[in-house]
Order: sequence, then C-alpha cells, then structure tokens
Amino acid sequence: MVAKTPASPAFSRLLTLREQPLTYPKSLVELAYEQLLSMLVTMKIAPGAHIGIEALSRDLQISPTPIREALTLLEAQKLAYKIPNVGFRAADLLTGPEIDDLFEMRLLIEPKAAAFAALRSSQEHFDALTILSDNMARVAGGEETDYAQFAEGDARLHHLVAQASGNRFVAQTVEGLHVHLHIFRFLFRTNAPEQALQEHAAIVRALLARDADAAEGAMRDHLEASRQRMARALARHDVATPDREGSTPRRIDSSERCP
Ligand SMILES: [Zn+2]
Repeated sequence: MVAKTPASPAFSRLLTLREQPLTYPKSLVELAYEQLLSMLVTMKIAPGAHIGIEALSRDLQISPTPIREALTLLEAQKLAYKIPNVGFRAADLLTGPEIDDLFEMRLLIEPKAAAFAALRSSQEHFDALTILSDNMARVAGGEETDYAQFAEGDARLHHLVAQASGNRFVAQTVEGLHVHLHIFRFLFRTNAPEQALQEHAAIVRALLARDADAAEGAMRDHLEASRQRMARALARHDVATPDREGSTPRRIDSSERCP
C-alpha cells in the first residue's frame, strides 16, 4: 500500500487530486482550501495576520462553513491556527535558527530514508513517485495556485520517499514535520520550483535504478540546495524589513488584511 498510516483529510486530498485525474466536481471545501492555501503560501495573507471568515466568504463567493472547514484542514498543515473566541490566524514564518535546525534534522533522516527506499520500495511507491513528478513538472513555473500545488507536491514527494523506506517511524517523523508549505512561503517568485524539479528528478532516477548510494547522495544534494535557497531568501527578507520583529518579512497593511 502507498499510504500505510491513516491520511489526514488534507493528505487524502493530495492522494486523490494529484495521482488521479479529477473525475468529480470539486467540493466547496476543496475550492476554499485551494484558494486559502495559495493565499497563505504566497503570503497574500501575511504571516500572523487574522483570517476573517466573513470577508473571505464575500471575496471568494463561498459560504462561511466550507471556508471554516478548509481552515481546519490548513490548521492540520500548521499553516493556520485557531484562537478560541477570536478566530483563525496565519502561522508565523519560521525563524532563521528554526530553519537551521530543520535542515540539520532533515539531513540526518531523509538521505538515509532515500537509500532504504532504493533497496526496499514497492513498485507501487515508484509508480506514485513517477506520476507525482510528472504532475509537479506541469505546475512548476505557474502562478499562485500552481505554486501552492507545487508546494503540496513537494510535501507528498518527500512523504512518499519516507514511506518507501519501509520504516514506519521514519515516515511518521518526516510527515510530522509539516515543513514544506512553510518553506515554500519564503520562495514565491523565485526559481525554486524549477531547481527542485531537477533535483527531484535525480532522486527519482536513482530510486528507480535501485541505487542506494546515488539516492542518498541525490537527496542530500537536494536538501543542501534547498537550505541554500532558504538562506538567500532569508537574507532578502532581512534586507527588505530591517525593523521586523520576530519573523514576519512582509506584512500587508491593515486595509488589505481581512478584518
Ligand atoms: Zn523537495
């Protein structure tokens, strides 16, 4: 089986939307989720900003209930969080030290997971990876909703490799990080998707060849390159907002914010 552990609602959505042609009309929750995800990943909704459900309902022409449900899915992805009696807020950006710790941790686990996957993966996992890579190539270089789909695809790809390692604890650790959508919030309007696409292709090639050393190396190269892209993005954010407090690089002003 591709997914051994029960998938979260958002993760199930990735399975159905990314690996099979869409054969049914999208639900209002899915539409709201897609719109909100792209607004959060591209920081149209600023990190830390209040997310006003009534205003979103008017802007998106979707009633409040599906928007609330979509926000609950995004809360599971750690992109939004609920404050009792106040409502939802967008998650803050990761800080520089958090990003350092994150990549240190990923470099400990994911290259080895790729090596194990090369040796142990089922054909089903390989098929899913191949289809996912093709789908990601189609949305790389696109605008906002494509960008958000690419970020989701990245999460899915890294989860699939971790699952293919055959080690449940490795898979749970990688899935539990919820980092990909956060990372992509720093990289909108960069060529990160095109670069990541090539790096992913090298990982998938090594996996399909069942070459453990090459898979481990390709995953390490991808994570190192991603860490460097993040360092450059962080430097740009620091220059852009020298007076920032904490971690918010670009706040939209209050008139743009949802009330
Ligand atoms: Zn990746």
